[in-house]
Amino acid sequence: MTALHSEAWTRLSLFAGVFLAMALWEALAPLRPSSTSKAKRWSINLAIVGINTIVLRVLFPTAAVGVAWLAVRRDWGLLNNVELPYWLSFVGSVVALDLVVYLQHVLFHAVPALWRLHMVHHADLDFDVTTGNRFHPIEILLSMLVKTAAVVVLGPPVAAVLAFEVLLNATSMFNHGNVRIPAGLDRALRFLIVTPDMHRVHHSVVPVETNSNFGFNLPWWDRILGTYRAQPRAGHLGMTIGIRQFRDQKRLTLGRLLALPFVGDIGSYAFGNGGAKGVEFETRG
Ligand SMILES: [Zn+2]
Ligand SMILES: [Zn+2]
Repeated sequence: MTALHSEAWTRLSLFAGVFLAMALWEALAPLRPSSTSKAKRWSINLAIVGINTIVLRVLFPTAAVGVAWLAVRRDWGLLNNVELPYWLSFVGSVVALDLVVYLQHVLFHAVPALWRLHMVHHADLDFDVTTGNRFHPIEILLSMLVKTAAVVVLGPPVAAVLAFEVLLNATSMFNHGNVRIPAGLDRALRFLIVTPDMHRVHHSVVPVETNSNFGFNLPWWDRILGTYRAQPRAGHLGMTIGIRQFRDQKRLTLGRLLALPFVGDIGSYAFGNGGAKGVEFETRG
């Protein structure tokens, strides 16, 4: 199918372009020095990207875009049953899907079993462009199911779903960048998009910081819904990245990361695991 073929090319070329641009920026002007072997981290994180790409293509060959196409043809979902200007459906769909992804991210922190999967993203001991694509394959599958369900209910234009997915992938690489953005520019950008400084707070080992700044594209949900935290207490250079119970890079191999949700120590981040307590006593990471 030529449409799906060109869609795959669009995704791949944009992924490669943004990835290379961020990798170059990080190599030329990194914000934080690596605390662990970058070669080891990158080989693991990129292997996870490869596994996830294969898993998704095998189990969800048409992905959310294919479901959006089906929904348009069958008149499924809200927007396929109301008359709205195309631009409004398009923008509204991108914004609504972003809210869904925000809520899903909050859920992955709140529910202990989901946090077990999401720990793989947070257990990275450094924070850079490759962290932005490091998710356990089961989390990737669950995200695709949630997105697909949202598409069936919403009935968005096909192009809006593709735009949203490409945007999410690109902003995820941007906002995990180990890059320095001048404070004034960062403040201005934060009105429109989640910046690396904003999302880095979310990768702090301090639970109250981990459980803040859940947005990926739009920074508004955190501000509106009360999960926004401007800066890490220890500063961007002094903060510790990762999860408190996983500090040894030698124990974070590819095999162990894939097994982490099933065998790893869940710690005290998720609801019901002491996450809400203890937090108040933290002063620094
Ligand atoms: Zn998270
Ligand atoms: Zn992240």
